[in-house]
Amino acid sequence: MYWYCEQLGFDAGLRQARLALLGLGDADMRVVPLLHRQVINPKREVLVNAFLAIVLQHKEPQSVLAGGYHSEPLKKILDEYLQTLGRDFTDANYFEARLRIGVVHAWARLGLGAYIAAMRVMQQLLLDEVPPRAHKANMLRSFIIKILALDMSLACDAFHGVQTLGLEHFIESLQISGRQMRHALEYDALTGVLSRAQILTILEHTVADSRDAAHPCCVIMADLDHFKQVNDEHGHGVGDKVLRDVAARIGAALRHEDRVGRYGGEEFVIVLGGTALAEARDIAERVRERVASDPIVVDGRAVAMTISQGLAELRADEVPTALLERADKAMYDAKQAGRNCVQVDVAPALADPLANPDGASVTVQSEHHENNTNQ
Ligand code: GH3
Ligand code: MG
Ligand code: MG
Repeated sequence: MYWYCEQLGFDAGLRQARLALLGLGDADMRVVPLLHRQVINPKREVLVNAFLAIVLQHKEPQSVLAGGYHSEPLKKILDEYLQTLGRDFTDANYFEARLRIGVVHAWARLGLGAYIAAMRVMQQLLLDEVPPRAHKANMLRSFIIKILALDMSLACDAFHGVQTLGLEHFIESLQISGRQMRHALEYDALTGVLSRAQILTILEHTVADSRDAAHPCCVIMADLDHFKQVNDEHGHGVGDKVLRDVAARIGAALRHEDRVGRYGGEEFVIVLGGTALAEARDIAERVRERVASDPIVVDGRAVAMTISQGLAELRADEVPTALLERADKAMYDAKQAGRNCVQVDVAPALADPLANPDGASVTVQSEHHENNTNQ
């Protein structure tokens, strides 16, 4: 399952040895949420833009990136990189994803030296964003240096692997065709649903199509309830399997044409093209029921799971990010309302002849359901 880890010899022993060599340990695990809360989340867009502004002034990245990468997908890939930086860095999943980055860079024929130089730029940008008075500022800086060193070391190993085995042979040996490479960028490795970058691209297209055809469309932001508790009680391995199972249940509750992607850790975005609010609400309700229906059984443990969802329908002249924000806000309202429910952000819809583009949105609560037993 962990192809790159397997091919490049990153078994549990080597993973542990690499972490030990870099001095990455339990104390660093506790810094990860701080890094995301204090540095990455507030500044993701700034970091991505600054990074591209700097590296694209230079010849090597320019020559590679000019060959077909468009800035929006590239921004999304960088954004996803930052969002996942350091998260669960002891897991095989983390190593797998980071080795894959190395392979993709080698495949794109960006030289290792240029890659490391670019990573140095990212490192400095992150260090500069650590607020001087941040909680555990020194630990944060040290962690940034160590985690980027881990990522760079894995990219080096992947580059090396590609070269030793020969690019063609390596790609063949992993059965990675161009299509499979794209698959790796388009799908989330853990859950198998669409990647964040891909679902956001689909959202953009769906909104554009809705606007052109004057069709409605809806977005659901879904977040697992009390998921941290699952990790705390049963461990990350079980947490991962629960996450996979929930993603499968969401997929099974959707129609063929609906699209679901992993937006972040335990958050999913569902895009419902050509769908008005009433129907979307039924779909969200079906998702809710399906997730909550039976406990998820992992390694003989039964884990009861529920999901909170925020639903919003596209308004006239609304941009995709604003639609997503309304769905996100409605999802937080669902949390406030006790979880395991759907909250609808009601706003005038594009296809509604009575639509008032300036109308205020109101949040109405769906029928409330029995709460998550994890509480
Ligand atoms: P709430 O109901 O308010 O959403 O509570 P919560 O515990 O779900 O939310 P919180 O944001 O506090 O915690 C989310 C947790 O999801 C923390 C993080 O460790 C976990 N998580 C995120 N991504 C993954 C993953 O890929 N695997 C595992 N096992 N856990 C993950
Ligand atoms: Mg949650
Ligand atoms: Mg969450």
